[in-house]
This record gives sequence, structure tokens and C-alpha cells, in this order.
Amino acid sequence: MELQIKQVISWMEKTNEKIQSNKEYLTSLDQAIGDGDHGLNMARGFQEVVNKLSSSNYTYVSDVLKDVSMTLLSKVGGASGPLYGTAFLKMSTALKGIETVDYPQFKKAVVEAVNGVKERGKANKGEKTMIDVWEPIVDFLQKQDNLEAKELESTAEKAMEATQDLKATKGRAAYLKERSIGHLDPGSVSSYYIFAALSEVLEE
Ligand code: ADP
Ligand code: MG
Ligand code: MG
Repeated sequence: MELQIKQVISWMEKTNEKIQSNKEYLTSLDQAIGDGDHGLNMARGFQEVVNKLSSSNYTYVSDVLKDVSMTLLSKVGGASGPLYGTAFLKMSTALKGIETVDYPQFKKAVVEAVNGVKERGKANKGEKTMIDVWEPIVDFLQKQDNLEAKELESTAEKAMEATQDLKATKGRAAYLKERSIGHLDPGSVSSYYIFAALSEVLEE
């Protein structure tokens, strides 16, 4: 795999498309076990991201990711803004000064991103948060020497679906305790869109 500025911008555009067309769905998921704003939060944030990227010029992939991070941090309220902001900031830092990102570099960046999210949210795998998608992605990447885009997508999808059976112990859904079981985690669904979009970019 190779990721250049063009692909990273396209990754964010495709993520935005998925989020905009699933805004109501994300909202309904968050209405079930949260406060019902995840669709709105993500739709606002990623629209701002796309606006920002289309009106800027970049030399490095890390600069694109930095703008993604800063935009999400400043435009998305709630838990997900700072957490996604941290994920993209960690990726940006890990890829600093690189023009064409190769697979080992990308792997390292995603590992750093997950570690950052875990640290910031004080959560681990199994607590019914976006980490339940990001961590299986890291495990999957660690096992491969070459990235299979289709498998990246299906790994994210399976991980997202598996959040249905988990009991939330972090985030708003944790207030529901046992009653959070049987619902998908909204942040895991939006994380799935992020990886599904990346998979599409890598297939082009
Ligand atoms: P809020 O819960 O503040 O309204 P959102 O609805 O935008 O924020 O985002 C909720 C999502 O954020 C959850 O579905 C979950 O995936 C993620 N999340 C919440 N708390 C944490 C945490 N401590 N660590 C990781 N992810 C979290
Ligand atoms: Mg919410
Ligand atoms: Mg909220």
C-alpha cells in the first residue's frame, strides 16, 4: 500500500459521505444507549474536515492529518470529538515529514492512534467503545505483511457488529449497565465507516 496526500483527502471525503448518508442511523444508535447526538456530531465534524482540506494546500500527509485532528477537536462536541481528534493527531505525529506512507509506517501510525485513544478515554477493549473496532484493526494489521483492503473492511465490520453483545463500562452507555447489551456502539459504527472508506481508497 501507499498513501499520499491525494489518498488521505479522498479517505476523508469518503468517510464524510458515509457519515452524511448515515447521519440519522448514527443518531438512532446513540438515542438507544446515549444522548442521541452522535450522528449530528460526526456529520458536523467531517463536513468541516472536508471543507478545510479542500481549501488548503499540503506538502505532507502529516499536515493533512493534523488539520483533520484540529478540526475534529474544535468542531465535534461530546466524547467522540476529542477521541477522534487524538487518533488523527497521533497518526499525524507518527507520519511526520513522510511524503508517501508505506504499510509499516501506516501500521505504526494506527498503533499510536489506538494507544492515544485508550489513554485519553481511559478505556480498553471490551468496554463497548470505538476501541472495540480500532484494536481489532491493529491486531489485524500486525498479522499482515501486506494490506488486503477487503479484509480491512470485513475486520472492521465484524468488530463493529460484535459490540452489540458487549456491556458498556465507559461512556454514556455505561449508565445503562446490562441494558446496553443488544445495541451497537455508535462510535464503533462511525469507526467502521472510517475503515470502510480507507479500504475503498486502497482498492482504487
Ligand atoms: P457523547 O457520548 O459525549 O454524546 P458521542 O455521542 O459523539 O459523544 O460519541 C459517543 C461514542 O464515543 C461512543 O459510542 C463510544 O464509541 C465513544 N466513547 C465514549 N466514551 C469513550 C471512551 N472513554 N473511550 C473510547 N471511546 C469512547
Ligand atoms: Mg452522544
Ligand atoms: Mg453528547
